[in-house]
Amino acid sequence: MQVSKRLVSFSFLLSAKSVGITSVLLILLCPLISCTPEAPNSHRLGMEKLHDCHVHALSPELLQIWRNRGVPISRPSSHYTDIDTILSILGAQSIDLISVGYFFTSPGMYSGADGRERLSAENDFILRCSARRPERVRPFVAIDLLMEDPVGEIERCRRINPKLGVKIHAGVSRLFLSEPEHRYRLRTVLDQAAQANTPVLLHFDNQDPNFGRRDFSLLLDSVLVDLPPLELRLAHLGSRGGRFSPQNLEVLNAFLDRQRRGKIPEGHQFLFDFSAVAFQENAEDIPPLTPQDVTLLNEYFQAVDPDILIFGSDYPLYTSAEYARILMNPLGIDLNALHQLTQK
Ligand SMILES: [Zn+2]
Repeated sequence: MQVSKRLVSFSFLLSAKSVGITSVLLILLCPLISCTPEAPNSHRLGMEKLHDCHVHALSPELLQIWRNRGVPISRPSSHYTDIDTILSILGAQSIDLISVGYFFTSPGMYSGADGRERLSAENDFILRCSARRPERVRPFVAIDLLMEDPVGEIERCRRINPKLGVKIHAGVSRLFLSEPEHRYRLRTVLDQAAQANTPVLLHFDNQDPNFGRRDFSLLLDSVLVDLPPLELRLAHLGSRGGRFSPQNLEVLNAFLDRQRRGKIPEGHQFLFDFSAVAFQENAEDIPPLTPQDVTLLNEYFQAVDPDILIFGSDYPLYTSAEYARILMNPLGIDLNALHQLTQK
């Protein structure tokens, strides 16, 4: 056994715009101190071809901002900022590297007047990481749906790397699909992504206490309907991460209901990523999976077509190898049964 310190998921950091930045950082980024078996290497797990669809890196500038605010950074700097180092410790063959540039356009998190430029700079950092290791790293650039000209930012990045993906964080953007303006903005971005054959990773949960089934219906019926075919990935099994939650159940049940009734708008590919829903260890505010959680998750894995499930670790929360081990035991997930994404 080794004692390891980890940084809590960026999902949590970026999920509470309405909460003061200090408390968000302190509460959500306290290092986890835990006992875990040493991470097995990828070869022993038969993970030579594992694709991790949810990995984060930070530019040195953003990491410094967090350090200046007293965020407890638990890994060495290079584990956040250096793509070669990250690839060497993950245990995944290829990754989708997700920008967190929307940190800079969130008034609750960043107050500088240069937020829009900083978002672009963070995207440029992710694009450079990919350019360094194009065979293993696909960049996902971040936009804030409520910022000025999000489509322009995607197009700018696409001129640098046409194979990019896009990350949208409804929690940071405070995206309420009950608002016609928000539906219009999301639909505009998704339409453009679909036309360019660009996958979109959506952190769908907007932190509203009532988030759930109704939001999913609005997404299908008022946003996706009649759009060209789109690859839409819902992060954290459709919710916010932290653990398998009632919101996960709302979204997954809504999806399964609609699928059963043949009411999913045609042509789109829905994929649900596993990141940050399974904790094997105690953390502040984040309990490990209970035996009931394990049972419930297993029931869902039996109920859904495994071809809609994709593997993601939300690194630096876990390395790919560590999280794969948790999914295999105690959850008993056969990684080979999941939808296999490959580096394109
Ligand atoms: Zn994430």
